[in-house]
Amino acid sequence: MEGCSKYCSFCVVPYTRGEEVSRPLEDVLTEVAELAADGVREVTLLGQNVNAYRGRIDKSGAATRGLGEHEPQWADFALLLEYVAEIPGIERIRYTTSHPREFTPRLIEAHREIPELVDHVHLPVQSGSDRVLGAMKRGYTVLEYKSIVRRLREARPGISISSDFIVGFPGETDADFERTMRLVDEVGFDSSFSFVYSPRPGTPAAELEDTTPAAVKLERLQALQTAVAGNARRIGDAMVGSVQRVLIEGRSKKDAAELSGRTGNNRVVNFAGPQRLIGTMAEVRIVAALPHSLRGEVVTRV
Ligand code: SF4
Repeated sequence: MEGCSKYCSFCVVPYTRGEEVSRPLEDVLTEVAELAADGVREVTLLGQNVNAYRGRIDKSGAATRGLGEHEPQWADFALLLEYVAEIPGIERIRYTTSHPREFTPRLIEAHREIPELVDHVHLPVQSGSDRVLGAMKRGYTVLEYKSIVRRLREARPGISISSDFIVGFPGETDADFERTMRLVDEVGFDSSFSFVYSPRPGTPAAELEDTTPAAVKLERLQALQTAVAGNARRIGDAMVGSVQRVLIEGRSKKDAAELSGRTGNNRVVNFAGPQRLIGTMAEVRIVAALPHSLRGEVVTRV
């Protein structure tokens, strides 16, 4: 799906890309089935607000044949995930970017029911202060965000959560920023895309008074990034000794004699192995955690 109908006060996407538009269900399933037939093992479902997906169901289509008369005419994102997971050959499903406002109980359940869904969700929160979230017009509170994370972790223990943050939004006080730091600590985000706020012409936030000095914003950004990096290090260290299912994506960037793959929770793992394993899944024991990657050794191919 493309576009966005959320109109956060700082963002140009709804104006530049237009409102949310979803591809019909059959269309997506046909494309994924073709990819799977070509040997693709992992797909990423994409959209600015991918979990706002509402795909038209064409009941005469092969993938949806068998749906009864009284089944819905529209597929939500959870139903799309169910169908994609049933396509032979698809072993892993990722999606990005999701929006907390669209994180339905059905989507949370999908993480319990669909083993092909990976152990990672990118769920942008932007700020840990309700006051700032309100000014951003994000449409949820910190408590609601934490409730999604708690239920997600109940459904899928060990799932890793990454996020986007905007630091130094107009009017953000030290106390607001402290709330963001508290949230980073409480959720234990594994990684983040974080930026100092910069006004986008034509957006409502560009009109807001912004009195925070640039140096203060930069300090906040550095503090946030240091905290998230600390979480990432702890999570990486805790993975040492575990055996992870890795999709081998190619040769290692640093050492062409080695292979590189990704764990379900989106960590890069480098390890020795023959080229013929590229494109397959393997069980890999993690032997060391480095700042931006893991080292491993192949246990078995699966
Ligand atoms: S930040 Fe995301 S949800 Fe908000 S308007 Fe932009 S694209 Fe939409």
